[in-house]
Parts: sequence; C-alpha cells; structure tokens
Amino acid sequence: MARLDVLDLVERARGGDQRAVGRLLSLVESGDVARLREATAALAPHTGHAHVVGLTGPPGVGKSTTTSALVTALRKRGDRVGVLAVDPSSPFSGGALLGDRIRMGEHGTDEGVFIRSMATRGHLGGLSWATPAALRVLDAAGCDTVLVETVGVGQSEVEVVALADTTVVLLAPGTGDGVQAAKAGILEIADVFVVNKADRDGAAETARQIRNMMTFGEKRDWTPPVLKTVAARGEGLDALVDALGEHREWARRTGERDRRRAARAGAEIEAVTLERLRARIAALRGASGLDSLAGRVAAGDLDPYAAADVLVPAISGLNGAGVTVAGPSGA
Ligand code: GDP
Repeated sequence: MARLDVLDLVERARGGDQRAVGRLLSLVESGDVARLREATAALAPHTGHAHVVGLTGPPGVGKSTTTSALVTALRKRGDRVGVLAVDPSSPFSGGALLGDRIRMGEHGTDEGVFIRSMATRGHLGGLSWATPAALRVLDAAGCDTVLVETVGVGQSEVEVVALADTTVVLLAPGTGDGVQAAKAGILEIADVFVVNKADRDGAAETARQIRNMMTFGEKRDWTPPVLKTVAARGEGLDALVDALGEHREWARRTGERDRRRAARAGAEIEAVTLERLRARIAALRGASGLDSLAGRVAAGDLDPYAAADVLVPAISGLNGAGVTVAGPSGA
C-alpha cells in the first residue's frame, strides 16, 4: 500500500466508510509498522471525541449479549458506535468468538456500527499497542462511543479495560463471580457494575455483595453504581447508557478523563519503544551482539548483569559497545 493510499483510506474512514475502516483495522492487525505509522500520524489529529467504554467479566456472564444490546440502545440515541472484541489470550485473529457473533446479528448491516474482533496475543508487542491503535481508527471514524469487550477476567483483560474512559464490570447472580472478580483485581477498576441475568434468582443478593465489597475498598470520588440488567431481553440498558453518560461527564469535569488518556498514551509509547528495542536486540543476534554475550555468560566468563550493561547502550543507540544497529522497519 503506497503512502497516498494510506492517506486516502484515512480520509474515507473519517467519513465513516465501512470498508476503509475495515482496511485500517486490518492494517493494525498486520503488524506492518511503516504503513501503520503513516496511518497513525494521519489519524491522530482526528481523535479524542470517542467515549471508550471497556466491558469485562467472567465468561458466560453476558458480555457479548450486553454489548449487542448496548449498541442497540446507543444507536437509538443517534450515536455512531464502534465495537472491539478483544481476546488477549488468543493468537487467532478475526476469531469466531465474540465479535463475529455480534457482526452476524442485527447490527451487521447498520452503517453506523463498526465491529471487529481482535486476538492480540500473537502480535508484536502484544495487546499493549494493538488495542489503542484500533481505538484510534474507530475514534477518527467518528464513533461517539467505542465498546471494548474482553474475553475472560485475567491480568491481560484488566490491562485492556484499563485503557477505557469508563469501565463496566459484569457479574451474574449466584456464580461466585464476585469472589473471582475480587481476586482478579477487577473491583477496583470498575466505574459501573452490572449484575446481568437479573431474571435469575439472587440478583439482588449479588448487587448487595458488590456494594458491601465496595465499602471495604478505598474511598473514591466516584461511587460506582450497581445496575441490574437482563441483556437477553434488552432490559436495564437505558439505565446503563445513562450511567455511562454520567461517568463520562464526571470524568470530563474532574480531569479524570485526561488523566486516563495520558496514562493510555504513556502505555502506548512504552509498548512502541519496547517493540523497537526488541527488534534491535534481534538485530544484535550476530557474533558481535547477544549471541557472543550469551556464550560468555554460559561459559561463566561474564555475569548476565554485566552482559546487559554491554547490550543496553548498544541497543539504545548510545553505542557503548561500538556496535551499529539497523533500526526495525519504520523506526
Ligand atoms: P459472554 O461469554 O460473557 O460474552 O456471555 P454471552 O453474552 O455469550 O452470554 C452467555 C449466555 O448467557 C448466552 O446463552 C446468553 O443468551 C445468556 N444470557 C445473556 N444475557 C442473559 C440474561 O440477561 N438472562 C439470561 N437468563 N441469560 C442471558
């Protein structure tokens, strides 16, 4: 893809062209650093509008169903909506998991909805930069809200939702989810709790447990509301949309939104930097670099810390070891 093509794609994506948005998201997934870099530079000035909402919770709690119902509720209010279904534990992209289920559903033909499922584990630098890069595409495409849905509740899922402006944690009645969620450190990151499957017994009890757990937690300026939904029937979704709006307004007013966005940008810069350093380490795998150091460490001539002292200036371009290294593509 030539430079002009990338710029043309960005122009069309900004106009909400589904195919252009799809191609830019594919570019993010392709790991083509040079092209992605051009696209990112062209997209960046057109970002900052979208409200990024992360949804997480244990498998089977109803994230996918809730996401789909939220899309419907947001579309009714006239929002342009993006959905990223992220699986940080899978190397398989475009998977048959969450995103495709939504894509095939009622939103498949809606011009105002952009849906992508992404597996992020196999990527260079992992989820740490693929998700923010995809968010940038959807933001520049004029999405008012972007829903980021993750599979499961592990550390990497927590990292993904930590990118959000507003984080929704979903639990279901009577499954011990609350305890699991507490263990995964997910209660702390919730801005809004949803007890889904409220058509089942024990929803009020689960909501009460969550409120109890919060009273033990550290006091925050924002008290996360605990809502009940029946996502499968679209019940409680308007209240959820309202809660998202209230949190968005609170975060904007208090500067919390800017703090989170700066943290998100910082994490992205770190990921891009680490990726370059990794590429440089790989480039140093010649006789003069890592391999020879590794041989010496293995033979007991050098300790690994001393070896790192040689490697760090070499890869960071300070050139302490007198080694010249070609940068990775696009660097
Ligand atoms: P995910 O794994 O968290 O994405 O969960 P899904 O959205 O795939 O939902 C898991 C199952 O729960 C599906 O069979 C849904 O139909 C069902 N489900 C979703 N929402 C509700 C609800 O509000 N009530 C009930 N009873 N079932 C629901």
